[in-house]
Amino acid sequence: MKALALLSGGLDSILAVKVVQNAGIEVEAIHFIIPFLQTPDHNGTGHAANAAKQLNIPLHYHPCGEDYLQMIEQPQHGYGKRMNPCIDCRIYTFKIAAQKMREIGASFLITGEVCDQRPNSQRLDALDITARDAGLKDLVVRPLSAKLLRETIPEREGWIDRDKLLDMKGRGRNPQMALAAQYGITDYPSPAGGCLLTNEEYSLKVKDLLDHKNKLSMHSVGLLRLGRHLRLSPDAKIIVGKDEVENENIQKAATAGDQILELVDYAGPVTLLLGTPEESSLHLAAAITAGYGHIPEGVTVKVNVRGTAERELLVKPLSRDEIRPYFVYKV
Ligand code: SF4
Repeated sequence: MKALALLSGGLDSILAVKVVQNAGIEVEAIHFIIPFLQTPDHNGTGHAANAAKQLNIPLHYHPCGEDYLQMIEQPQHGYGKRMNPCIDCRIYTFKIAAQKMREIGASFLITGEVCDQRPNSQRLDALDITARDAGLKDLVVRPLSAKLLRETIPEREGWIDRDKLLDMKGRGRNPQMALAAQYGITDYPSPAGGCLLTNEEYSLKVKDLLDHKNKLSMHSVGLLRLGRHLRLSPDAKIIVGKDEVENENIQKAATAGDQILELVDYAGPVTLLLGTPEESSLHLAAAITAGYGHIPEGVTVKVNVRGTAERELLVKPLSRDEIRPYFVYKV
């Protein structure tokens, strides 16, 4: 008998596998590379890779691409507190997991979900919806909370002994940490980090993108991790670098049609201007770029603009108070 585990690499997902392994079931795992995770696994390294190694199980990766972004744009079950469509996200991952189960000959799915741990994705009814909508009705075992949930097919059919499963609930982590100690598991990540879609500032950046483009792409979502984001008009947005590393990454991220702005005679940020700006937006972008430069008071400065053509604009730097209203989030 084999099960497939959703392995985030966090403690709950590690314990879920351990509980099922201890019940005598062979386990393989799948990890979703979600573009909004703060610390996604890369090239076989990261939290999930570490966890799989400790658990001694094969790990399959699934990079979430444009189809995942389409789900984020229009989630059937709506968003959580921010732009996090947790129920639809879980359904998406369950559907992919169901395919992987068929490929590897697994009979059921296991997850580290704990009842009442999170307000949206992990309410009891939400857990049911996610499995049903993914075509896995009664085939998802949540080993950490199974005794509080309806019996699943694997339990009913005797594939796994329900008595070996647990009854954890709520937000506290002490029971999980105690169980980890019992299993001798010491290497697991702290719960910090997680999904950027639950972060207020990041969510407002996603909302701004959707409000003005109605579409997300891997490129546009990748840019949301960089710099300060300011909207100048419905057709023009700028990203202003905060430090040397960001300035470099912003230069690299520019694509055809984008424009790069930099101060000519003073140190300052690199600004990426996206969209099709009017002349007034271009001047505004230059004045904001100058506003973050290291410039003596009262000086008018030259800003170099590189795009399809190259030119220089002469501008008066804006003050921080004048810049603030353009941010797509509160500063
Ligand atoms: S927090 Fe983010 S990754 Fe987790 S279920 Fe919600 S949308 Fe998906």
